[in-house]
Amino acid sequence: MKCILCESYTFTHICTECQNTFLAPSLYKRRLSNGIHVISFYRYEEIKELLFTKHTDIGFYIYTILAKLSFEKFAKEFHTKEKYYAIAIDDTITSGYSHTAILNKHLKTYNIKPLFNQLRANNSVSYSGQSKHFREKNPRNFQLQKLKNANIILVDDIITTGSTLTQACLEVQKQNKTVSFCLTLTDVSLK
Ligand SMILES: [Zn+2]
Repeated sequence: MKCILCESYTFTHICTECQNTFLAPSLYKRRLSNGIHVISFYRYEEIKELLFTKHTDIGFYIYTILAKLSFEKFAKEFHTKEKYYAIAIDDTITSGYSHTAILNKHLKTYNIKPLFNQLRANNSVSYSGQSKHFREKNPRNFQLQKLKNANIILVDDIITTGSTLTQACLEVQKQNKTVSFCLTLTDVSLK
């Protein structure tokens, strides 16, 4: 097949050279309004075109490459004595796979255990391109499975205003559990 970035022949959808050149992750931090940290790995402009593939046939492969380069690398370098449980935002399966479940799956290490199908939005309204006001007027109404575990990492692909993650944090806190931090591929607010 051909690399979708440079069109050279390769065994993966993005060749190793392009992965190294264009998709080396950084570590960006921001805080939600509730004080919880969000770590992200790419500027939106860097991976915008790749994120658009999530609704296409190759989305699964592209998200897997991004997850390996960023989430998996982060998890391998994250050494703690405590155990963490990672939950993806709305990992319902649309068009054959869940893009947030792919990210979450790649966090699996001795101290991070990904959990699946834990957090569902009852309101599937799309926040894409909507204002903060709209997002606040149309809460996602998350439903969270009963958590047995204390330290939670929340996972999503994109953070924009932060209202989705903030709403998800509230559900975790309602069960008296702690969101240690959140991980996203990209933070749209990064300049
Ligand atoms: Zn390439």
